[in-house]
Amino acid sequence: MNNEIMRKIPKIDEVLQEQCLFEYIKELPKALVLDSIREEIANLRNEISKADDSYVLDYDKLLANILSKIQKKKQLSIRKVINATGTVIHTNLGRSKLSYEASKAALNSATSYSNLEYDLSKGSRGLRHSHVEYILKKLTGMEAAMVVNNNAAATMLTLSAMGYGKEMIVSRGELVEIGGSFRIPDIMKQSGCSLKEIGTTNKTKLSDYELAIDDEKTAALMKVHTSNYKIVGFTEDVSLDELVKLGEEKSIPVIYDMGSGLLIDLSKYGLSEPTVLDAVNSGIDLALFSGDKLLGGPQCGIIIGKAIFIDKLKKHPLARALRIDKMTLASLEVTLRTYLDEDKAKDEIPTLKMITSKPETIKTKAEKLEQELNLIDGVSAEVVETKDQIGGGSAPTTYLDGYGVSIVHNKLTPEKIERKLRSFRIPIIARINKDKLIFVLRTVDDDEIEVIKDAIKEL
Ligand SMILES: *Cc1c(COP(=O)(O)O)cnc(C)c1O
Repeated sequence: MNNEIMRKIPKIDEVLQEQCLFEYIKELPKALVLDSIREEIANLRNEISKADDSYVLDYDKLLANILSKIQKKKQLSIRKVINATGTVIHTNLGRSKLSYEASKAALNSATSYSNLEYDLSKGSRGLRHSHVEYILKKLTGMEAAMVVNNNAAATMLTLSAMGYGKEMIVSRGELVEIGGSFRIPDIMKQSGCSLKEIGTTNKTKLSDYELAIDDEKTAALMKVHTSNYKIVGFTEDVSLDELVKLGEEKSIPVIYDMGSGLLIDLSKYGLSEPTVLDAVNSGIDLALFSGDKLLGGPQCGIIIGKAIFIDKLKKHPLARALRIDKMTLASLEVTLRTYLDEDKAKDEIPTLKMITSKPETIKTKAEKLEQELNLIDGVSAEVVETKDQIGGGSAPTTYLDGYGVSIVHNKLTPEKIERKLRSFRIPIIARINKDKLIFVLRTVDDDEIEVIKDAIKEL
């Protein structure tokens, strides 16, 4: 053992006396400075324990490591990153960006009191849901609406309120796993509802639903949009219209988990997802969708439907546990209001703007970045065509035509550059494709092009 060397390791108090640390102690809470010192001393101890007798303790290196650890701890954990992947609703990067106006509303509601649950005309307690119910009814034509924490919560609440102790009929082709532990059969179980699976993976017929209906046990028929996969080939499923008709005949509610809340038709941009209006026009009883996927708002789960069912949901004890917070509510209201003017929505809601961007516009951005990067020594950049994805588990088979800039560096491999970019002061997340690093421009703002240029310069 290197006991001799171990004894030379400085004490925390000694390190704290170092002049070079003083300025940091002013900027960073002392507890975090102490953590940095402790962690680096532990690393050093570990290194020494593995080394042989020739090991020489390098005090300056220890200090340098401590300083760099302190620098890291100065940064907040959740930070802005640049999304140069071209995937618009990138779940790992926070899904949708809010519009500027929506973000301002979130800020205002966070930094002041508000009439969140206060009826200003009556001077008494008001309802949280009321703030967006009006606009949701107006946009969708549905009788009632409410909003909860996310669409997973909306599903959980709906199943609990509508199906507790009873059966929910779902096609085997629609037993979706959204990600993590969110699987329709598991959510059913959690909600105290039993799942009645019908049909097969590739084919489900209307008669399958009919045969499964039981006057006593059936709570509802449920359709789940297979957002993140497509079954192709020898397939058959029951359309929403047919299902709703069957529900009406048998007086059984029909519930539709839509996943993405696409409020406007984007088929001319190559996106053939069902819209909320399609669901409403079918005569559905309850429809659920996310706020931060194709709708382009904050994380939340929106439930629209017939008033008798929405009332039941609002009164359920889980509604309180899953409720939406004031910042989300404020930014959602602004986002939804933007939809009153469709062109404005496409221009101001970042998710819609990025999806509907013209390839020429993206190409112009790519050309600008290409020029900037080619001015840097050792770098050669080239504009390339890309196929960009929607992301967020939406429209998995849709690829949007876009542009990017691929770069090669005379000394660094793409993997090495990719790693360095991730640790840049504003981390940049790029794509690697066939030995080249690509910045995909659909999801990059104009002012972020400068940051990418700086990052490559500093490689
Ligand atoms: C995304 C999705 C969900 C989950 O929505 P979150 O808002 O992420 O909780 C549920 N159902 C479907 C069909 C989805 O696509």
